[in-house]
Amino acid sequence: SVEDIASPKKTKELMQKFGFTLKKSLGQNFLIDYNILHKIVSAADLTPQKGALEIGPGIGALTQQLGKAAGRVVAIEIDQRLLPMLEETLSPYPHTTVVHGDVLKVDLKELFEQHFQGVSQVSVVANLPYYVTTPIIMKLLEEKLPLENIVVMIQKEVADRMAAKPGGKDYGSLSIAVQYYCIPEVVTIVPRTVFIPQPNVDSAVIRLKVRQTPPVDVEDEAFFFDVVQASFVQRRKTIYNNLAAKYFTKETKSELEVILQQSGIDPSRRGETLSMEEYAVLSRNLARALS
Ligand code: SAM
Repeated sequence: SVEDIASPKKTKELMQKFGFTLKKSLGQNFLIDYNILHKIVSAADLTPQKGALEIGPGIGALTQQLGKAAGRVVAIEIDQRLLPMLEETLSPYPHTTVVHGDVLKVDLKELFEQHFQGVSQVSVVANLPYYVTTPIIMKLLEEKLPLENIVVMIQKEVADRMAAKPGGKDYGSLSIAVQYYCIPEVVTIVPRTVFIPQPNVDSAVIRLKVRQTPPVDVEDEAFFFDVVQASFVQRRKTIYNNLAAKYFTKETKSELEVILQQSGIDPSRRGETLSMEEYAVLSRNLARALS
């Protein structure tokens, strides 16, 4: 059997052997704890019939476990210096491919066609580089890739925002965007000690179960997200003030009051109290009034 990469000893050994120095600017915090990896991989519900897409394999600690659990693994890594290490650490897993590139620039649809033909389901499984967490998640969701789950280690604070329900300070446009596409669930909170080097924020593993169909009917998705964004521009202001600033003039503002009333929304409420369903109704009525 092959030795696990995820231990402090093995990680240091490998980095020394290849003369590798960590780059903070690329969010390189490597996992050195097998138990956490096991929790991540279990949450993804992989089988030998399924595929896994990893973003940022690092030296391969998680990739190795994905190689054991999934029938097909593709890992996108931006740091060229890691490629020779990955070639060595992943050599026992021939159904695992490393693609060199920036995940934000890679054509993922094409990558899926190239690498995931014949697998029943694909999940994204990753310990994400924290400086680009939100752009990566939004890219995965907006491209509507055929994904089953997205299981990722991210900053705890971002996980809380993704999973937040209406009414609290964590609830905002990110919560609504993520929950429009997925059902989020925080799998576990992760201490800083499981990484080399230790990050200066707390982390969490979140599972986003990708929905087959959206939970609300918005008619125009782009406009719906526009309305949501606008409603949170100034969190302390009312929904009326935020939307008036974005879509109306002094002269037309009174229309907005009518639209809000029609939508069953008190104009004095704040954006953070509206449910996704209320945003859906509101954006449909607003679109009609503005067209
Ligand atoms: N998966 C490894 C682990 O868990 O130990 C490494 C995780 S580390 C937090 C993030 C990894 O993402 C690093 O290997 C880094 O080089 C890579 N990375 C950073 N930005 C990236 C990008 N835009 N596209 C692809 N990989 C990136």
